[in-house]
Amino acid sequence: MELSDREYLERLFEAFYEVGALPGGGVTRLGYTALEDEMHRRFGALAEALGGTVETDLAGNSYAFLAPAEEYVLIGSHLDSVIQGGRYDGVAGVMAGLLQLRRAKEAGLKLPIKVAAFRCEESSNFGCCTMGSGLVTGQLKEGPEKLSKLTGKDGSLLGDVFASRGLSLTPPRITGVKSYLELHIEQGKVLEETGTRVGVVSTIAGPRRWKLQLKGLAEHSGATPMSMRQDALCAACEIVLAVEKIGQREAARCESVATVGVIQNVPNALNVVPGAAELGIDLRGSRMDSLDRMEQDTLKAAREICDRRRIGLTESKLSELDPVSMDPGIQEGLMAAAERLGISCRNMPSGAGHDAMAFAPLFPTGMVFIPCKKGISHNPLESATLESILDGADVLWEYLRGMD
Ligand SMILES: [Zn+2]
Repeated sequence: MELSDREYLERLFEAFYEVGALPGGGVTRLGYTALEDEMHRRFGALAEALGGTVETDLAGNSYAFLAPAEEYVLIGSHLDSVIQGGRYDGVAGVMAGLLQLRRAKEAGLKLPIKVAAFRCEESSNFGCCTMGSGLVTGQLKEGPEKLSKLTGKDGSLLGDVFASRGLSLTPPRITGVKSYLELHIEQGKVLEETGTRVGVVSTIAGPRRWKLQLKGLAEHSGATPMSMRQDALCAACEIVLAVEKIGQREAARCESVATVGVIQNVPNALNVVPGAAELGIDLRGSRMDSLDRMEQDTLKAAREICDRRRIGLTESKLSELDPVSMDPGIQEGLMAAAERLGISCRNMPSGAGHDAMAFAPLFPTGMVFIPCKKGISHNPLESATLESILDGADVLWEYLRGMD
């Protein structure tokens, strides 16, 4: 008997289920490892079961299609995970892509679509994200020299890993892409808390990351009077709260966020006034003016606080990516498709990065979000329902169908 769409999605989910499974729940499927290879092998088998052709490129990405076409709509996401991650991040989008192939086949529509499974979207193995999609679009900031020296979690160099697999850090650019679509779990809780079934992404936020090193004076905590201290941790704490305030202000104006996720305290001893501290700051937003303001205000606050407290301050920018806008026409098309299906939908920014970031500067690109339980992601507790994946896949199909 023919499987229903929901049953088909369940079969896909089960096909990937055990790869990299952890005893305590969740999965670890790091990019460019044997476990990720196994995910791609299973992807290929599932596509071939639909009568599809499977190809790979020189970055190791896999593609599946029913009939060759010079120009095609690419529907993709990734099959790797973070360390102790969930089973939906990336995989949900690849499942939704395979469902589009199955529907195209069943409907006998000659839709030129290709499904992509990208390599190493997470930075968990080599400290660099969207590698598979970034390499074939030429959108990685790091050149081949720098990339080849990246070290994986097991100590191997990316250059050696690529050489042993016959892959290239300078693969040919992908061609023939008419547009790029991606379904992904939201990784936040806006859809769930607002009871909305799908999101259509407006912009993918650009992260700016800073490291602030604070130098005070480590002294005896009993013998140093309060008025004579240069306590680096107290200054760091004031900065943490200032960054929160800046984030709250920009959240209200532009949906930006600001987080101090890292704090080091030196020497971290009960009887010593902290002599040094280090903060890691992550600023994200979809508007450049807001990112600029958050960056300037954060540095201004840090300088003022350190001056007042006689603390030395060293500022270093760790990384910066610009926000990426999704194609307005595709956003409208996806919203209209959801409306025709009676699926509730909202236009929303993405705080997390995705493979779509690599395609958006080159091709019209769109993203559909589906809710995940309590917004939890990059965690074994990550969960989404097959019904939600089906909602998102329905919206993609309704949109694609109109192109035939
Ligand atoms: Zn992802």
